Amino acid sequence: MSRFLSGAAGRLAPYIPGEQPRDQQYVKLNTNESPYPPCPGVRRVLESANAADLRLYPDPDVIALRQAMADCYGLSADQVFAGGGSDEVLGFFFMAFFDRGDKVYYPDITYGFYAVYTQLCGLEGKTIPLREDYSLAPEDYFGLDGNIVIANPNAPTGMAISPAQVELILQNNPQRLVLVDEAYIDFAKDQTCVPLLAKYDNLLVVQTYSKSRALAGMRIGCGLGAPEVIGDLRRIKYSFNPYNLDRLSILIGIAASAARDYLQEITGKIAATRDETKARLEQLGFTVLPSKTNFLFARSPVIGGYELYRRLKEKGVLVRQFEKDRIRDFVRITVGTPEQMDRLIEAIGEL
Ligand code: PMP
Repeated sequence: MSRFLSGAAGRLAPYIPGEQPRDQQYVKLNTNESPYPPCPGVRRVLESANAADLRLYPDPDVIALRQAMADCYGLSADQVFAGGGSDEVLGFFFMAFFDRGDKVYYPDITYGFYAVYTQLCGLEGKTIPLREDYSLAPEDYFGLDGNIVIANPNAPTGMAISPAQVELILQNNPQRLVLVDEAYIDFAKDQTCVPLLAKYDNLLVVQTYSKSRALAGMRIGCGLGAPEVIGDLRRIKYSFNPYNLDRLSILIGIAASAARDYLQEITGKIAATRDETKARLEQLGFTVLPSKTNFLFARSPVIGGYELYRRLKEKGVLVRQFEKDRIRDFVRITVGTPEQMDRLIEAIGEL
């Protein structure tokens, strides 16, 4: 830290991304990336992109991409906010809908970035424990005195609640904004809360192109909500980074939005590999939470989470472990190709 750092910045506990090691080739199952490439349309965009265009700023309204996203979700463009990854949309949410000291509610075990933004914005983070079996009970979220953030499916547990259960939370908090982070929703058939936008103006759904559309390297995400809520996010964006999506991201986002069949194909393959891998791990005695995502959260019957992570890494298989109460004995395993899963099972067998 330099001697110039502010007290508040010095007190932050920043988010720690998953390792991106360069020392050797790993079977990389630690950051929930897709094992498959993005849709063919993305490659065509890259092949035909014109470098000379890059001297011009991108469209700050991102209208073409927002329209493409709107078509994809059956919404209108004024219900869509485009962000540089869903992390940026989450950041704008925290900046737009709270005053310093306000309360924000989220589960005790969930995506670590919520706590980071809470700190960054000077809010009071209120965690609500998941139940003993790691499920989220909607009634625990009724009548709260602050906005609510839930990841559905949740991370790193992988477990989901139904849109009907989310609806109960919306109904019981009409004066609060409920953000549903659907980063992994494309791996959970028919579970999206997007249709609830027709009925509730206190819902903000956040999605990403990083996982199911295989574009983690590009930074494309979106917020879907009532036009007024989207307008509020735009207000923050125009106070922070008006050109938040670059020209290439816009073109690639448009191509990826249109590729519905491809999305179905790769999410279907990943979901099938996930279910098979879960069964194989269970045969080896592992406890595996019921996953609706592209990862599995699993606990060995004989070896602690950190130890399993460390020994798998020695064998060239990288998974993620969290040093956190209630979950330190688990590892989170991204679902890769069937061949990568064979390597994982083989490595576990050798242990
Ligand atoms: N939400 C959840 C629940 C996540 O796991 C992630 C991935 N780290 C994100 C949001 C952010 O993803 P991105 O910024 O790549 O869209």
